[in-house]
Amino acid sequence: MHSVKATHQQTKEHNRDLVLKTIFAIKAISRAEIARLTQLTRPTVSDVVTLLINEGLVKEVGMGASIGGKSPILLSLVEDSRYMISLHLAHDQFSGGVVNLRGEIKARVKLSVSGRDGEQALNLVYEILDQLICMDWKPIIGIGVGTPGLVNTREGVVVNAVNLDWKNLPLAQLIRDRYQLPVHILNDSQAAAIGEYVYGGAHASDENLVVINVREGIGAGILINGRLFQGDGGGAGEIGHLVVQEGGLLCRCGNHGCLETIASTRGIVDRAKIFAKDFPTSELARDPENISLDSLQNAYKDGDALAQKVVLDAGLYLGGAIASLISTLNIQKFILIGDMTRFGKQWLEAICEKMSQGTLSKLAEGTSIEIGKPESQETILGASALMLLDSYSLLFMQ
Ligand SMILES: [Zn+2]
Repeated sequence: MHSVKATHQQTKEHNRDLVLKTIFAIKAISRAEIARLTQLTRPTVSDVVTLLINEGLVKEVGMGASIGGKSPILLSLVEDSRYMISLHLAHDQFSGGVVNLRGEIKARVKLSVSGRDGEQALNLVYEILDQLICMDWKPIIGIGVGTPGLVNTREGVVVNAVNLDWKNLPLAQLIRDRYQLPVHILNDSQAAAIGEYVYGGAHASDENLVVINVREGIGAGILINGRLFQGDGGGAGEIGHLVVQEGGLLCRCGNHGCLETIASTRGIVDRAKIFAKDFPTSELARDPENISLDSLQNAYKDGDALAQKVVLDAGLYLGGAIASLISTLNIQKFILIGDMTRFGKQWLEAICEKMSQGTLSKLAEGTSIEIGKPESQETILGASALMLLDSYSLLFMQ
């Protein structure tokens, strides 16, 4: 008896999620069209829609075009009926926003990290949350946090974030205890992938997609059938620490020759400093110790040989790592985001060249690698979007 009841409840929730998902995806839609797309019966759709209207999540927005009979009433999401708080913890800056159901950022707070780590970095998280909560956007249904490092999303634990000096930090529990709200945490590259998937562009609801975030560190977010794939320990997509060069430079993880030591923004600056002596005519060789990402980019634009070498090496090694992902997963759509994308077309060509050489030609042919939008807010949005992808149950007031 008990299990029959549970199943009935699950079916109701499943139908509700399906209808909501359809209304989320399409700006204005009739009940009949929802029934057609979800393959639920008309009475079921009507019941669910009545519930959603009563919850304030959906409203009737006018009449659609008639296809013979009576004009249908169109339904739309009430995008400001719920808010989420989303945090993005980057190495130099923590930022947070209040986000509505369509991913519009209503308010923002940014605080500089200035080398703070451990307990002090945690206090900075509270400071942002305090400020955002004080702004009085209501109702807030949950808090999402995208953080660097290895994250166990299921347990809500930051397993290891080297820069912040967090080890086995139960971040979700700490935030939940303080604010009494549901909390989701995930790795920042995974957050960026979700943000791109939900708000970034035209992505089908069951799409496979890999978003690679190439900045000071390198990480990939992998979506399979429209769901974030995190692996058994939450570390799926941690490609930055693939060892790609035996005896290479020391990585912040303690190993030598990780992909990050060659293909990240930090990696190219370090390598330009090291190789400067081999390029005496390079403008960068005049003052190798002060090479920065910006000076490297300027030299690169001028065709400087040293800058070209480190940037194209970065592309080639990243391309090799992407070839491994393609060979393993056969996913055909890759989007690159993060600070390295400033090196543009030539960098992308190096990546594609190595990718093609590194996997079966049949697999390479069908694969597209693109640079994502430059000023992307996807990371900040992604942490909150996961709450919706996971389940819509958060939207229902208890
Ligand atoms: Zn490493």
